[in-house]
Amino acid sequence: MSTGIEWTDETWNPVVGCTRVSPGCQHCYAERMAKRLSKNPSTPQYAGTVDDNGRWTGQVNLVESALLKPLSWRKPRMVFVNSMSDLFHESVPDEYIDKVFAVMAQAHHHTYQVLTKRPERITEWAAGAHLRMTRCFRNFHDYTESVGPWPLPNVWLGTSAENQATLDERLPHLLATPAAVRFLSLEPLLGPIDVRGRLDGIDWVIVGGESGPGAQPMHPDWVRSIRDACVEAEVAFFFKQWGEWLPQSVANSERAARYAAWDAARDAAMVNQYKKQTRLLFDVLNGRVDIVKRAQRKLATPDAK
Ligand code: SF4
Repeated sequence: MSTGIEWTDETWNPVVGCTRVSPGCQHCYAERMAKRLSKNPSTPQYAGTVDDNGRWTGQVNLVESALLKPLSWRKPRMVFVNSMSDLFHESVPDEYIDKVFAVMAQAHHHTYQVLTKRPERITEWAAGAHLRMTRCFRNFHDYTESVGPWPLPNVWLGTSAENQATLDERLPHLLATPAAVRFLSLEPLLGPIDVRGRLDGIDWVIVGGESGPGAQPMHPDWVRSIRDACVEAEVAFFFKQWGEWLPQSVANSERAARYAAWDAARDAAMVNQYKKQTRLLFDVLNGRVDIVKRAQRKLATPDAK
């Protein structure tokens, strides 16, 4: 499915359904989406994942029909894995994670971004994964070649953290896992996070505010301090969005831009209105001319009815 997520091209959901693990899950976008999708007959894979109040039930569905999708995408893409779940959720069996990685090894013309709030599970899963994956890879469609280098060069592993406590808990697990690229998603950023001196082994940091009803504001200083730490450590930094709240200065400049856009739209509308009125006037005049002409014709030919 193509996506509105700014830092990827495509989402791939071989698993759907989840459970909240920390405050960053409070306004889970996937949960809101799943509420809608679970009622849609064309997306039966979401059945049972959310309750009547739109909350995750904890049921996680393995979507085998989506497993081989990346093999059908011919053009190389940046693929976000499991935007509607967490691949390392406790209900996803190791063997299924092996299969997902085997597909990523096989469809290696794509780059995959795997983001989890459960990096402690990656560490457990990764032990012996190469051997299991090789077996899995060979079973998959009778492939006999090797799974290739490990960690897979086309797979980025990342963890999310919303405050200092979740970063302190999750970062060591991510760093302990072999990965071609490691990234941190500090979104929704719900408090200050000090990452200075802790980015060794991290390649990319994403920051963003919280969205959705009841979202909490993100202080610009929290963002600045992370950005500065990234610059110092020469780590790529991506500011994704402010979320539901904007600093006054940004709001003012956005408002000014919006007013300018409104002015332009109003001018365009006035020009259109003027054109319409002019056209109307012309029609009326033409009509009158026509009436006059017909009347004149009638006078000139008294027998005409
Ligand atoms: S881990 Fe991700 S998908 Fe699962 S509840 Fe939290 S935010 Fe939602």
